[in-house]
Amino acid sequence: MNQLLQKEYYKALLQRDSQYEGIFFVGVKTTGIFCRPICPARKPKFENCEFFLDAKAALYASYRPCKKCNPLFPPNSESDLVQKLVRAVEENPEKRWKTVDFAKFSIHEKTARRQFQKRFGMTFIEYARARGMGIAMKQIRSNTSIIDTQLSTGFESSSGFRDAFSHIMEKPPSSAIDAKILKATWIDTELGPMLALADEDFLYLLEFVDCRGLEKEIENLRLKLKAAIIPGSTPPLVSIEKEIKEYFQNGSYQFTTPIKYFGSPFQQTVWKQLQKIPPGTTISYAQLAAFIGKRTACRAVANANGKNQFAIMIPCHRVINTSGQIGGYGGGIPRKKWLIEHEAKK
Ligand SMILES: [Zn+2]
Repeated sequence: MNQLLQKEYYKALLQRDSQYEGIFFVGVKTTGIFCRPICPARKPKFENCEFFLDAKAALYASYRPCKKCNPLFPPNSESDLVQKLVRAVEENPEKRWKTVDFAKFSIHEKTARRQFQKRFGMTFIEYARARGMGIAMKQIRSNTSIIDTQLSTGFESSSGFRDAFSHIMEKPPSSAIDAKILKATWIDTELGPMLALADEDFLYLLEFVDCRGLEKEIENLRLKLKAAIIPGSTPPLVSIEKEIKEYFQNGSYQFTTPIKYFGSPFQQTVWKQLQKIPPGTTISYAQLAAFIGKRTACRAVANANGKNQFAIMIPCHRVINTSGQIGGYGGGIPRKKWLIEHEAKK
């Protein structure tokens, strides 16, 4: 978000301008709480504000809803069901919600889904996940020096983080001995936060935090490597953060951070082919299949495309439907469109 817009929102915040209701939410870095523009609480300093266009983004960025202004409940639109569920999530924000849980509340999953969709633009499960992910990601996002201090006293002291992370990421590997350590870094971008995982030598994952199936991807990685994931930084993480920032700032497409491919030989062939598509151009799934000499394997190629674990870096967003329609994207269609247009401008 540009500085000008942030200043405008900050002004609206100071004036408690109700016209900005629903336009933005503000996260307060010092308290970890997010608010609506008209919140009656004392106003934070500009430098402690982080502005979001929707509540989901604020939740993913580890903020919890303010009790004074109830950012999740716009005035005059109370729904008992929604309130009940939001309260239940707040009581146990790290829980992984499943269909059976609704029965306990005598609530139909479909009803919950519809009402949440209407209210927040996401389903209840997505809401609960966003809240839980926010908690799991909090330490990755927060000041690294604090984390470094924790780590210097041994990994055990960061187990709080690992517990939170494991809750969200399903069961931890059964063996208590983690063979490997992967470090996790949070990268804020114009399209929302990204998560990067790496060891000292290679990047293993780069994905939008709210990307569909991210937990599963991380879980697979952890199981394959018997790895523990802790917040921190390594040379590949420093490098990818710099490259991603440059990509968003001036459209420079220079990715040299070494990556570790996990995937079948076929998937790797597809991913390497993807990297040959020049920025600012698109190809169809059929063309991609033809390029790797598997003209008839269009579906398998599309599948491999979807398994890509390095968003932006391996440009699966440059593959569109043969009909010219934009096609799917794990990070969501609006992001895919944005990326294609962003690269075309350069
Ligand atoms: Zn508030």
